[in-house]
Amino acid sequence: MSTALRETRSTCPYCGVGCGVIIESQGTQITGVRGDPDHPANFGRLCSKGSTLHLTAAPAVTQHARLLFPMRRATRGAEPRPVSWNEAMSEATERFAQVIAEHGPDAVGFYLSGQLLTEDYYVFNKLAKGLIGTNNVDTNSRLCMSSAVAGYKATLGADAPPACYDDLAHARTLFITGSNTAYAHPILFRRIEDAKRANPALRMIVVDPRRTDTAAAADLHLQLLPGSDVALYHGLLHLMLWDGLVDTAYIAAHTTGFDALKARVREYTPRETSRLTGVPEDRIVQAAAWFAGLDEPGAGAPVAARTPTLSLYCQGLNQSASGTAKNAALINLHLATGQIGKPGAGPFSLTGQPNAMGGREVGGLSNLLSAHRDLANPGHRAEVARLWGVDDVPAAPGKSAVDMFRAAADGQIKALWIACTNPAQSMPDQALVREAMARCEFVVVQEAFATTATTPYADLLLPATTWGEKEGTVTNSERRISRVRPAVPAPGQARNDWHIATEFAQRLETRLRCGRPSLFDYPTPESVWIEHRESTRGRDLDITGLSYARLEAEGPQQWPLPEGAATGRARLYEDGVFPTADGRARFFDTPFEPVAEPRDVRYPFSLNTGRLRDQWHGMSRTGTLGRLFGQVPEPTVDLHPQELQRLGLQPGDLVHVTSRRGSIVLPAAADDGIAPAQAFIAMHWGEEFLSGRSARGVPLAGVNALTTPRYCPRSMQPELKHCAVKLLKAELP
Ligand code: SF4
Repeated sequence: MSTALRETRSTCPYCGVGCGVIIESQGTQITGVRGDPDHPANFGRLCSKGSTLHLTAAPAVTQHARLLFPMRRATRGAEPRPVSWNEAMSEATERFAQVIAEHGPDAVGFYLSGQLLTEDYYVFNKLAKGLIGTNNVDTNSRLCMSSAVAGYKATLGADAPPACYDDLAHARTLFITGSNTAYAHPILFRRIEDAKRANPALRMIVVDPRRTDTAAAADLHLQLLPGSDVALYHGLLHLMLWDGLVDTAYIAAHTTGFDALKARVREYTPRETSRLTGVPEDRIVQAAAWFAGLDEPGAGAPVAARTPTLSLYCQGLNQSASGTAKNAALINLHLATGQIGKPGAGPFSLTGQPNAMGGREVGGLSNLLSAHRDLANPGHRAEVARLWGVDDVPAAPGKSAVDMFRAAADGQIKALWIACTNPAQSMPDQALVREAMARCEFVVVQEAFATTATTPYADLLLPATTWGEKEGTVTNSERRISRVRPAVPAPGQARNDWHIATEFAQRLETRLRCGRPSLFDYPTPESVWIEHRESTRGRDLDITGLSYARLEAEGPQQWPLPEGAATGRARLYEDGVFPTADGRARFFDTPFEPVAEPRDVRYPFSLNTGRLRDQWHGMSRTGTLGRLFGQVPEPTVDLHPQELQRLGLQPGDLVHVTSRRGSIVLPAAADDGIAPAQAFIAMHWGEEFLSGRSARGVPLAGVNALTTPRYCPRSMQPELKHCAVKLLKAELP
């Protein structure tokens, strides 16, 4: 290979902002990274994580942390031994074929990741639903954004974020709710700061139980009680109705269902809303006026003169047992005030992972099909079966993330394929997830990193490529599709995820389809993408006007971009027509429901979880760099100083934090941004830093030893943001 210096344009693999990067490389080594000045997400900027990406690809890190060869365990608990790719794929094919033959297709499951590329996702989805005939395909995106999907569909008719990053420059009010944007989407927060500098009148409302760095920058912080979001939004709507701030003409022309919601919110008076949410009445009154586009409460202004409001939201709404209701109740506010479909206005969900959007586009969840089709719709199933060249797509719903591992624990699912994710750390009720994998007859883990908490459960470990080595596309939060390009060859025998899935599918189809033509004739990722593109024809996310060549020539593009279109669409619903049967958006009438596991006498603290500024997910990558531990060097449970005093603790004292599912021990820290009776633990720390045990003695790691698997009945997204815990000072031996 040439040792000349090279530069390769690609995309950051961390968060859903989707920043463009330029990778510098020499021979087989990535030597540097800088922000791509031409990428419309970041215009050259990178945050602490993105700007250190090249260091996570250093030879020392690769040798220590990477999985470089296919490995097989002769028995559970044994050391894995290297095998050839041929042996590995033969065994995987044999074992899956055997389980399918003996127990049927629903005895296998695939658990994927929002960090896979769109092409990877597409092949896995078709492999499970089209070839094997099971809808047991789900992903860690279920833990991230499935409530946003369900919220959009329930109100606007399609899973399509209607706004874009440029709207920050047009908004007068930013309503940031359930998002610590400063930490979770740092470059987007830089753009918010830019917008504020350019327009000092821009005001920011932040809704969060904690005073995060984002909340500290707000003009108005609504520090609500955990899980009381729906009550707050209903209370805001109540005030908007009372003060004549709703846009009656917009409601009449473009929506249905307002009367039922109007009746619903009648009881959410400012006093009642304050009681339910803990937010002072005057703050609720101020927020209602600003959201509706007025400067001051009660200062009437014609609708045309009202200023635009953009909502940004993320896991605080999504990771909830009432996640769909929270999303939809927020969208209700935009519909009621006409704050949608115009510059600077609209509900705008932020995706946590780099390609959660791409996974949604290919239908990579157990209840979805390609191109935003629904599994429950017989017409959609028939369309996808025709596109894939199969007789049918099974109608039976697949298992979503929590239920997939429950089914494995029950013995219903006997073979699991886990790709690019670490459920032994990231899933709630970790004890059950670990027991499920231990019980499963055959577990394949397809991974770039050798040392995740999940790899010890694998019978077969398949080495995958990662950032800087693989090729395909991702879609960011604003529906923008960017290319991901390889700068260096794969290390060891690692292969691309789409390639691994394709080879497995080809081998399996020779067993299951008895010589019929291959459904998986994919020589390149582009060939996969072209098939995906065709599946979008005529759909809300139509990208038939896009190609790899166009992305090469014109850079990242937003969908929809149908054949013949000059550009993608920055903003949706500007004409007030929604993708529903009657073209109208639907108000979502939902009651407020408290958290799934309220605190009580035995478990008197509300535990919240979230991100740190400089770490990513389970730290497989960021945890390899000492400099990223500068801000927060170790896990802590953060408490209000009053609570430390009440519990007889000093900062740094070790504390047992125990929920109904498990217990961990970690140092306490004081944070007066956390309300009394609440606690916060960052989500990243794994067993190298923070281990514990379940009541049944299962070894656990990190905060998900504690979290609850209770989930939203519509989105099936679990309530990772809240569970009840107790705290007890740990005695040193
Ligand atoms: Fe990467 Fe997100 Fe940081 Fe951008 S903001 S550099 S996408 S982690």
